[in-house]
Amino acid sequence: MAEVQIGLIGVPWDSGTTNRPGPRHGPRQLRDLSTMIRAQNGITGVRPFEVANCADLGDVPHNPADITDCMERITEFYRKVLAAGVLPLTAGGDHLSTLPILRAVAEKAPVGMIHFDSHTDLFKGYFGGTKYTHGTPFCRAVEEGILDPKRVCMIGIRGTTYDTEDRDFADNIGIRVIAIEEFHKRGVTDVMTEAREIAGDGDTYISYDIDFVDPAFAPGTGTPEIGGPNSYQALEVVRHLSGVRIVGADLVEVSPPFDSLGNTAFLGASIMFELLCVIAPTL
Ligand code: MN
Ligand code: MN
Repeated sequence: MAEVQIGLIGVPWDSGTTNRPGPRHGPRQLRDLSTMIRAQNGITGVRPFEVANCADLGDVPHNPADITDCMERITEFYRKVLAAGVLPLTAGGDHLSTLPILRAVAEKAPVGMIHFDSHTDLFKGYFGGTKYTHGTPFCRAVEEGILDPKRVCMIGIRGTTYDTEDRDFADNIGIRVIAIEEFHKRGVTDVMTEAREIAGDGDTYISYDIDFVDPAFAPGTGTPEIGGPNSYQALEVVRHLSGVRIVGADLVEVSPPFDSLGNTAFLGASIMFELLCVIAPTL
């Protein structure tokens, strides 16, 4: 692992899902469809595997039967990866996977985050108070002091809701939420300029839930929401991350049981390649 600069890591775990499970099968499907991707970025010309040493570090040690134990195993693994000077690029897994990763990435100081999703994942609890689900990771991360809310921007939020608890929480602590109507009205360049300003010069984590993308392009996920960005915009937002001080990134919630054609996993692998093309030249 010593010479590796970017480590691709699978988190085959979906014990945080609350409706339709399946993202535990995401990493193997993303690896499979990544074989469709060539060496050079068609738009930026970046050849990430020549610019940085990238390696697939395999799947994280995990435990599907015990959420707390599993999160400890994940954090421990990412601590080792980071101690070796490797920047982690993760294939999830449901969005709860991001919490134990952030615990390792932000061990010394809180980080900023640019978060693409149709949901804030900022809820306090599910089913009367259950703390660890894929709808709660960023509420926990703020409580634990590993995310700096003033340097967090959430983009693409939409869909029906039970209430406004999550949005109220975001407003109260200073997280910037760019909902889908604002995203479509302003366009990618304008929105991403603001997102980069919010992240600033500090260490920033990128978390990308595939349900950010419209289900016409990414149906293979557990909680799709209509009216989202298309597959071109899905990649375009990542190119606009150039200049952000990225310390880790993930692509989560690809669910192969709902992805019969593999097109969601292909888009997911393409997003991960786009992330590589932004990160590799900075190392
Ligand atoms: Mn999410
Ligand atoms: Mn989501």
